[in-house]
Amino acid sequence: MVKNLWNSNDSDVETGLGELVYRSNLIGQDRSVANWGGGNTSTKTIEKDFKGNDVEVMWVKGSGSDLATMKAENFTGLNLEDIKPIMEKEDMSDEEMVNYLGHCMIDSSHPRSSIETLLHAFLPYKHVDHTHPDAIISIACADNGKEIADEIYGDRFVWVPYIRPGFKLSKMIAEGVKNNPKAELVIMEKHGLVTWGETSKESYDQTISIIQEAEDYIENKAKGQTLFGGQKYETLSEDERKETLAQIMPIVRGQVSVDKKMIVTYDDSEDVLSFINSHNAKELSQVGAACPDHLVHTKRAPLYVEWDPTTKDIDQLKELIKTSIASFKEEYIAYFDRNKSEGDQIAETAPRVLLIPGIGMINTGKSWSAANVSESLYHRAISVMRGSTVLGHFVSLNEAESFAVEYWPLELYKLSLAPKEAEFSRQVAFVTGGAGGIGSATCERLLSEGAHVIVADINLEGAQDLAAEINERYGQNRAAAV
Ligand SMILES: [Zn+2]
Repeated sequence: MVKNLWNSNDSDVETGLGELVYRSNLIGQDRSVANWGGGNTSTKTIEKDFKGNDVEVMWVKGSGSDLATMKAENFTGLNLEDIKPIMEKEDMSDEEMVNYLGHCMIDSSHPRSSIETLLHAFLPYKHVDHTHPDAIISIACADNGKEIADEIYGDRFVWVPYIRPGFKLSKMIAEGVKNNPKAELVIMEKHGLVTWGETSKESYDQTISIIQEAEDYIENKAKGQTLFGGQKYETLSEDERKETLAQIMPIVRGQVSVDKKMIVTYDDSEDVLSFINSHNAKELSQVGAACPDHLVHTKRAPLYVEWDPTTKDIDQLKELIKTSIASFKEEYIAYFDRNKSEGDQIAETAPRVLLIPGIGMINTGKSWSAANVSESLYHRAISVMRGSTVLGHFVSLNEAESFAVEYWPLELYKLSLAPKEAEFSRQVAFVTGGAGGIGSATCERLLSEGAHVIVADINLEGAQDLAAEINERYGQNRAAAV
């Protein structure tokens, strides 16, 4: 259940940009409201320009930041007077739009503004939130979503058919809202939600309460329903899972690392297992991404390994992992070839999400945190598929639409903002005597070159202290102690 986290004692110290930062962080705190890196927020206010004149400025999230952790410097200030003339245009290419918005920045040191900037600019409201909430996407990704929205929101909503974000989508949203004076929200098909308010708090309250309405409706419908067609397989016991993982993880890592090394993580949380072990998991998991934002981190579909855990046949599972990862890669290359246009560079071909009945989910990435992003996003996907199938049938972007997002230069630009990969990125270094003087200096050196480290030492406490200290500085799970 989403919760309203606004606390007036926190926020009344600041207005304008400060309050926008506060609101954005609150929205990002709940991943069922805004997934990692997804969604964007804005505030329109009056600022002094470089000549000392008052100008109407829109602060909007910069590209490549995450709502949960972003700070004032991650927002971009745009001169609204400069944006207004393009509202009259019929269409604008992405390049033109990015170029134009670059000229509207009030300070060239600000980050490039979000690719969804214009949907904020074109709406005549002071505060606008665009989010990707599980409950709303459940409706947006249900084949009967529009009728469901009708039942929940009556004449208070605007439904916008799916197109990739950009000028045209922003314009469709603005026109839809203009044509419905009662509109309180916009549902973007297969994508997300737009809400607004006259104050920052009003905008936030509206975002949360709109999502709550959808959640209540879905939970009510879910009562007495069998989710995902019911359970097909039992989860193996914890000991059996551990034993199996010890045997298969090296194979998984080897197979997904043929082109480029991958770090691999494992997840056996309850929602994941109840999905993977269900009758419909195989079919549902192949429909497509639950939100365009997921695509570059999860690919269009996970690899569902068709293993029957009741056999407990680990040799067969090992074989299946090898053959199914190989065919996943072949199919990925074929998908790329079918859809590519000039200049497109194929991404890593290995799956980012692997589902194994009875065992759980395995995720891959260039680092622990990259694997963790795909893991977190797949949790969102499961939640959306649950909602959509409670309401009707789950639908997603078709192949061409998916490719257009996965290989969209503007989406890839966000990824390019990440620091360059260092020499030992994607590698795990095992440092013996790691807690000692030479050992810890070795760890430090390897970390600075991008490695993840296993600090091994007979002094376990010392190793644990060092690992904790490393993770404090380099980020979660860059080190572990043994
Ligand atoms: Zn979006």
